[in-house]
Amino acid sequence: MRKRIAVIDRQKCHPDECGNYLCAKLCPVNRSGTECISVGEPDKKARIDEMLCTGCGICPNRCPFGAIQIINLPETLTKDPVHRYGENMFELYLLPTPVFGSVTGILGKNGIGKSTALKIMANMLKPNLGHYDNPPEFKEVINYFKGTETQKFLERLHKNEITLSYKPQQVDLIPKQVKGTVRDLLSKINSSEELMGVVEKLQLTHFLDNEIATISGGELQRVAIAASVLKKANLFLFDEPTSFLDIKQRVKVSEFIHDLADDKTAVMVIEHDLIILDYMTQYLNIMYGQEGAYGVVSGLKATREGINAFLEGYLREENIRFRDHAIKFEKSQDSRGAIPMPLVSWPEMKKTLGKFSLEIGAGTLHRDEVVGILGENGIGKTTFIKILAGMIKPDSGVVDSSVKVAYKAQYLESDSEIMVSEFLHRAVEKYSNQLIGAMDIEQLLTQKLSELSGGQLQRVAIAHCLSQDAQLFLLDEPSAYLDVEQRLKISKIIRAFAQERGITVLIVDHDLMFLDYISSRLIVFSGAPAVQGTMEGPFKMEEGMNKFLRDLNITLRRDMTSRRPRVNDVGSVKDREQRSGNKWYYS
Ligand code: SF4
Ligand code: SF4
Repeated sequence: MRKRIAVIDRQKCHPDECGNYLCAKLCPVNRSGTECISVGEPDKKARIDEMLCTGCGICPNRCPFGAIQIINLPETLTKDPVHRYGENMFELYLLPTPVFGSVTGILGKNGIGKSTALKIMANMLKPNLGHYDNPPEFKEVINYFKGTETQKFLERLHKNEITLSYKPQQVDLIPKQVKGTVRDLLSKINSSEELMGVVEKLQLTHFLDNEIATISGGELQRVAIAASVLKKANLFLFDEPTSFLDIKQRVKVSEFIHDLADDKTAVMVIEHDLIILDYMTQYLNIMYGQEGAYGVVSGLKATREGINAFLEGYLREENIRFRDHAIKFEKSQDSRGAIPMPLVSWPEMKKTLGKFSLEIGAGTLHRDEVVGILGENGIGKTTFIKILAGMIKPDSGVVDSSVKVAYKAQYLESDSEIMVSEFLHRAVEKYSNQLIGAMDIEQLLTQKLSELSGGQLQRVAIAHCLSQDAQLFLLDEPSAYLDVEQRLKISKIIRAFAQERGITVLIVDHDLMFLDYISSRLIVFSGAPAVQGTMEGPFKMEEGMNKFLRDLNITLRRDMTSRRPRVNDVGSVKDREQRSGNKWYYS
């Protein structure tokens, strides 16, 4: 059994630019005459023989492009991987467990094989037990899991007793693959009465006859969910079903997915919004490992204990510590010691855009604060931000335009050929520790923007915005594409950066825990999407949350162990107590 793996990112390996296989020249095993690092065929990239590698650590440190990872595997991994993509490539250990009658979540950071695991469960990827050059028969794979629930599941899968439906992660690719209206797409899958029931529950009615190419990200997400549940299946797999959705829609979709599970139906979900994951699932498989190198699936856990173990970074049953620190939730700061210094004030304002009208209440933003913005999609949040940024003029009222504003857009341009180091030159020069180092961007500097994943691009876009010469920073949906750990880490970095530079940061986001963690005050939007919006605030945290949660009709408490926010079950003792005391938000 191998104790370590060597992973080479082929995209980052440029033998012509590193001094002609620098790694091979430096490797002590090669220098002693044995070919541990060699030239791979047919791509001529470096290859490492894992059986010969001594794990000296020289090549990962010296490769100028950060293309090599040498990883000592946990000692508890005594079996071969379930799947390996190829030589010196990512490998996955164990599989998640679907539970019939329940919704099971998969929780873990990006790049450790969550989607790979779901694709195996969905029969879209045949596991090779690490033998990528000589894949085994499926029966051998079943045998590998002998005596476990996964064995029973794979046997049923093999006997065609499992019918799967899979909602992919990247719903933004749908318009490239499917033409026609939403109704055309859905009626091809299921034309029965069930169709209209699903359409109603997922609130698709008002855009049912719109072309797929013209609908928004949040609408596409709900269409993709509708398309998967309209298929006849007894195992539903949802890969990130709430991205692009606002909080109200997230709660609705969670309830919808939760209700799909019955004695004959199992549901599995990958989700990074921890409040929503907690609300939607009964069980969890935690995944840990090294980004881009390997991933391990934990045993099944009850959701509450599973999320707390994930935050703790320690799996008691497996006796594995997968993070050297626990993630802690401090109480949100709704008041600061120093007397606040105003940065920008605005009077009551109005703006009409086509059929949509926005009313903005008067308010003030202070220096050195992070203010969260809460509200549904299509309610005017981006319009308000653009008015503050001077990009749109209000119909009435004037904003002090002497404040310099930097803006990170909601949708990120990913097709640019610019190098990350060039795009971030100001951040590299001025904030190399606070932004580049803190946000783990160093190893991305030698890549082009077009080569980055969604989460990498998001981190780069945030660093770019925060490095600008401005006083007011507007970040539109900074949590999108980030995993739970990254969301909490970025919150801390933004808060510390605001304090250090004495700047003001406005954050529009739909992850309630992220906003709760990062904000010191809140702006709240209400109204009817695409028709009328009203903006009020900034409020103190408790006042703003109470206002928003009352409108959402949910109450939030803090978990006794981890202090993380949790949604109360409607009608539970805690829920009734908080509602009657008008405390929708825990204090
Ligand atoms: Fe050069 Fe790094 Fe590729 Fe080795 S892995 S050949 S050092 S670029
Ligand atoms: Fe060679 Fe392994 Fe050392 Fe790299 S880590 S230089 S492959 S022995």
